[in-house]
Amino acid sequence: MRELLSSRTADHYAETVHTTVDRLAARLRTTTQPYSGAPPAQLRALVDAVDLDGPAIGTPAALREVDELVLEHAVWFHLPTYAAHLNCPVVLPAVATEAVLAAVNPSVDTFDQSGIGTFVERSVVDWTARRIGFAAGDGIFTSGGTQSNLQGLLLAREHALAGVADRGAILPRLRVVASTSSHFSVQKAALLLGLATEAVVTAPVDALGRLRSDGVAATLAAIRAAGDVPMAVVATAGTTDRGCIDPLAPIADACAQDGTWLHVDAAYGCGLLVSPTRRHLLDGVERARSVTVDFHKSFFQPVSSSALLVRDPADLAPVAWHADYLNPEDSDEPNQVDKSLQTTRRFDALKLWTTLRALGADRLGAMFDEVLDLAAAAHRWVDEDDDLVLVGRSQLSTVLFRYQPAGVPDAQADALVPQVRAALFGSGRALVAKTVVDGRPCLKLTLLNPDTTLDDVAGVLELVRAAGAALVEGDDLVADAAAVAR
Ligand SMILES: *Cc1c(COP(=O)(O)O)cnc(C)c1O
Repeated sequence: MRELLSSRTADHYAETVHTTVDRLAARLRTTTQPYSGAPPAQLRALVDAVDLDGPAIGTPAALREVDELVLEHAVWFHLPTYAAHLNCPVVLPAVATEAVLAAVNPSVDTFDQSGIGTFVERSVVDWTARRIGFAAGDGIFTSGGTQSNLQGLLLAREHALAGVADRGAILPRLRVVASTSSHFSVQKAALLLGLATEAVVTAPVDALGRLRSDGVAATLAAIRAAGDVPMAVVATAGTTDRGCIDPLAPIADACAQDGTWLHVDAAYGCGLLVSPTRRHLLDGVERARSVTVDFHKSFFQPVSSSALLVRDPADLAPVAWHADYLNPEDSDEPNQVDKSLQTTRRFDALKLWTTLRALGADRLGAMFDEVLDLAAAAHRWVDEDDDLVLVGRSQLSTVLFRYQPAGVPDAQADALVPQVRAALFGSGRALVAKTVVDGRPCLKLTLLNPDTTLDDVAGVLELVRAAGAALVEGDDLVADAAAVAR
């Protein structure tokens, strides 16, 4: 079969992939906007026009169609005008490694399927554990922070239920302490883990939305006083919106005092592990029992690339299940599936391995530092702009703000937030995000591109200002028309 990758199709494989890569390179050379601006109805119509039951068109035509249909309307994270979500531009050694993964198609589950991959992944996991400061940690690559948080909390649940005779009696009493700024995957994990609907308890926060360690201690005490059982405290090292870091060391103290599992969600802040200037922001992370890292957020890795790390390798035991056809109990082979929620699993670790070999950890850390410096400069820029209002301060690389020139009341500024975002999205010229902070909507930039300059950010803010001004003027026109009509 000519379309199956094999020794007989090696030439055809190379030609097909080269053509595809050439087409992508052409796109990269000419694409200047992060998005085409196409509205949902247009995209849907384009996709619906393709009949998957129609006659087959062959590989070259199908790939050309991908170029016209998907690449034309792709969202490009590498452009400086992309400043919406936690999507980083990706480094070339990792992108090229994706081609290796695509062709070899390994699955890092049992040793007999992945051999060398098992040890490469273990090496990258050990490297990460050392960076965290675990003396002898362990861990596993996952599909993302959502799965890493789920696994961390699963391990915490099993720890809390260890030796409990009647699991059903304790399960509804388990409580997870987090902040209102923690990621929504904590709530999802609680649901999947069969915890009570009110299981996630929010503890008091400071002005930046960071957990207060005295509040954590008080919340743990209140849970015990109510006859419930603390299962875990989730501290976030880099909150998704505010880019702030909970005080890890004092929270670790509170957890140690209470004997509660500390999970640190460093999905966003993990880039600090290699930062030459800001590693101290993660001080205390080494005292966590489990840690989530998302290399696809702050290590410039392609999706997916994430891991869950544990301080004590024995804590991974609850996810080990054995099957005669795969990893029998008496197998003495090192099977990664014994540590994972997944069975068939991508060899994402190889991308980070290649990246560390190609660029080195310091270089990655310097790239993340550049992004943090840029964000600090952008904060100052917004703060000094008469028409923009800075909302809070980030320790990482988000910028929260509103378009609100003098004379525009709060209610109107709030209403403008989704409209400005939609206007930019519809133009495709710049992408920004929106969220809600302290009960009020605001716009959000997430800066993750070390090639982006302050001029680039100023350009995006100029587009925000222009869109906001046009919308305010439109509102005035509507108001005038209403006045005339009266
Ligand atoms: C992005 C994020 C997650 C979820 O990670 P995914 O890789 O998107 O699944 C979890 N926690 C925090 C703090 C995040 O920013």
